[in-house]
Amino acid sequence: MSDRYSRQTLFTPIGEEGQQKIKQKHVLIIGAGALGTGNAEALVRAGVGKLTIVDRDYVEWSNLQRQQLYTEKDADARIPKAVAAQNRLSEINSDVEIEAHILDATPQELEQLVDGVDLILDATDNFDTRMMINDISQKYEVPWIYGACVSSYGISFTVIPGETPCLNCLLESVPLGGLTCDTAGIISPTVQMVVAYQTAEALKILVEDWDALRKKLVSFDLWSNQQTAINVSKAKKDNCLSCGAEPTYPHLSYENQTKTAVLCGRDSVQIRPPERQERNLDEVAERLSAQGGTIEQNPFLLSFSKGEQRIVLFKDGRALIHGTKDIAEAKSLYHRYLG
Ligand SMILES: [Zn+2]
Repeated sequence: MSDRYSRQTLFTPIGEEGQQKIKQKHVLIIGAGALGTGNAEALVRAGVGKLTIVDRDYVEWSNLQRQQLYTEKDADARIPKAVAAQNRLSEINSDVEIEAHILDATPQELEQLVDGVDLILDATDNFDTRMMINDISQKYEVPWIYGACVSSYGISFTVIPGETPCLNCLLESVPLGGLTCDTAGIISPTVQMVVAYQTAEALKILVEDWDALRKKLVSFDLWSNQQTAINVSKAKKDNCLSCGAEPTYPHLSYENQTKTAVLCGRDSVQIRPPERQERNLDEVAERLSAQGGTIEQNPFLLSFSKGEQRIVLFKDGRALIHGTKDIAEAKSLYHRYLG
């Protein structure tokens, strides 16, 4: 146990002192997909004090190619990613306190989760959540590290409130690839590269080596062998509604919350009830059993398949409707079977 971090403390910019700082820090990771599992594993191995990981989805077979914490067992049992990640991370380093939440975080939930957090890592697959993280970061003065990837292309930027431009500033001046939902597929080295950029910056922040931060927007394409680092310091806007002189944090307002969303790169729609609910999955299963179709259940969710469609209901009332991208059709299925 005692030499667990020896190679890391031998690294001069961290040292024993830096290691102690890492141990005192709390990191919040939003998303436990490819970027989330990579970042989480790196930070847990590095000995961060506490890690909170949030994800709205469950493990599927198509995740195993690049989401490094998950196994075939997790996919077979449709274990929520937050839970599967927590289980695996605890095995990797039992000294780290790991908190897991199965949810599609709303602004209100994010405002609670950020309490006591030293750093937020973006590992989401959608732009709405990223803009919420950006506002939360500014409002609570917590740094965050943006990361996104698609196919062989990746991008990352570290946002330090009060110093760097925020994501909202960048949107107006820099063409940000990798932001849109894409069905182009992805190769795992793209993920690993973004994770490397994010965790390197994370370690610098955790040991408070602020001067070492990259300060540039980095992007790359591993297949076409391109690499760029853009100085974006001039992109910071005084009138930015997220980080400017009179911020309103527009992405934390209730009106901006997406209640229904087509999931990135999948034939799936997520439906979230207006109020958080506590659903009794056994009761729902019993009711659905009269409908024909196949019902599978684990302690966290219920899956109901009939014909081409599959509905997955989480305990908080959220549902994923698979087999459609049509929001109206998804809503009608939700009401027919779960409403
Ligand atoms: Zn800004």
